[in-house]
Amino acid sequence: MKSIKVEYKKLGRQRVIGLAYGKERRIEIDERLTGEKFITTLIHEIMHIQNWHWDEFKVYDDAEEMGKIVYRELIKKGVIK
Ligand SMILES: [Zn+2]
Repeated sequence: MKSIKVEYKKLGRQRVIGLAYGKERRIEIDERLTGEKFITTLIHEIMHIQNWHWDEFKVYDDAEEMGKIVYRELIKKGVIK
């Protein structure tokens, strides 16, 4: 399967911080995001591509949970500071 392409842009005008294009398997992330918010948003948009039929609430909750854990453990293991 085609790998998911990630692009960084200033997305404020659309009032979103991330966008997912399912058919293209392409994600846009607001370039100003950092830390846990960046990781959570990246996971959120990947989940949309992988689970196109999931509603926004399911994606939101699962991505928040996963993002918090991933960020916490990356810091704990010294992968990020
Ligand atoms: Zn979403």
